Amino acid sequence: WTEGTLEEAENSLRELAALAETAGSEVLDGIVQRRLKPDPATYLGSGKARELRDIVAATGADTVIVDSELAPSQRRGLEDVVKVKVIDRTGLILDIFAQHAKSKEGKAQVELAQLEYMLPRLRGWGESLSRQAGGRAAAGEGIGSRGPGETKIELDRRRIRARMAKLRREIAAMKPARETKRLNRRRNAVPSVAIAGYTNAGKSSLLNRLTDAGVLVENALFATLDPTVRRAQTPDGIGYTLSDTVGFVRSLPTQLVEAFRSTLEEVADADLILHVVDASHPDPEGQIRAVRQVFTDIDAQNIPEIIVLNKVDAADPFVVERIRQRERSVVVVSARTGEGIDRLRQRISESIPRPQTVLDLVVP
Ligand code: GDP
Repeated sequence: WTEGTLEEAENSLRELAALAETAGSEVLDGIVQRRLKPDPATYLGSGKARELRDIVAATGADTVIVDSELAPSQRRGLEDVVKVKVIDRTGLILDIFAQHAKSKEGKAQVELAQLEYMLPRLRGWGESLSRQAGGRAAAGEGIGSRGPGETKIELDRRRIRARMAKLRREIAAMKPARETKRLNRRRNAVPSVAIAGYTNAGKSSLLNRLTDAGVLVENALFATLDPTVRRAQTPDGIGYTLSDTVGFVRSLPTQLVEAFRSTLEEVADADLILHVVDASHPDPEGQIRAVRQVFTDIDAQNIPEIIVLNKVDAADPFVVERIRQRERSVVVVSARTGEGIDRLRQRISESIPRPQTVLDLVVP
């Protein structure tokens, strides 16, 4: 269900599918419903909900992801029809942030956002909690407590609020540390390249293109790196790390903005940013501006950047040319066909800092 046009709904669903893939899911099928208002009980109308149940049964799907925020009762209502787990867009995005958060601050910001998301939904979950509490009461516990369910929810709420307050204090205390880190930022021993851009721009396709032809003997230095970081090599044999960062999302709920920024931390530490842009998107320039604004917010605006204008196989040549003329450093590619990838490798090679040789150190 959407307030926009069918085309907008389909674009949004494509982004949702890319998000789900980022989170490690395999996307099997999708449906769109045109409706004036979401159904209060099951979100989709009952006919569509049954259609969805049949799709779930036919494909063997274990999860349904809905492209908006669901009320707790709608989620349960839909789960009752489709008989598998239902999650909404915000829940999915939070999951991805949790996978990407690495630093203490990043983890704290994501946990805070998760608790914020959970708090108003507690009534829905509280019902099952209260059923459990009721079960215990029947077994002889909880005597004298009026409405054990209610008490349990209140207690959960209080605990969550206390945890949130603690996280906020911790995050506030981490700010000075981040500042020091920034001032002391040093060149990485191995040059690091971060791939950033909107979800669905083609970041992971590009990561695969850039790494599969490359080397890759597992080497002790890289053995401990996490799975979103890979090793690549320039045409003349200089090794560098390539990391896929958490993708930008078109309509990011405001309560997730801080968590998003703090999970983009690899970008602020990179020696070079590959800013991937989907040239076939209706407004690639708007996306470029939005991404750059966030780079500024996280203090990454001075890091060298290459605009990787991707999906040239599907883009309007006029738009490609316009962006090429306006931007300083653009490489036009197709991660799908491989067009332009060699040129990109060459450009990366020219743009990463070269490891200093002993000679550099002794010559004044
Ligand atoms: P990410 O979300 O930024 O990591 O994007 P993905 O690499 O998952 O790609 C998103 C979608 O765009 C996938 O369906 C890809 O097959 C498609 N895609 C990626 N690169 C290209 C390209 O160069 N041309 C076309 N036509 N599609 C592409």
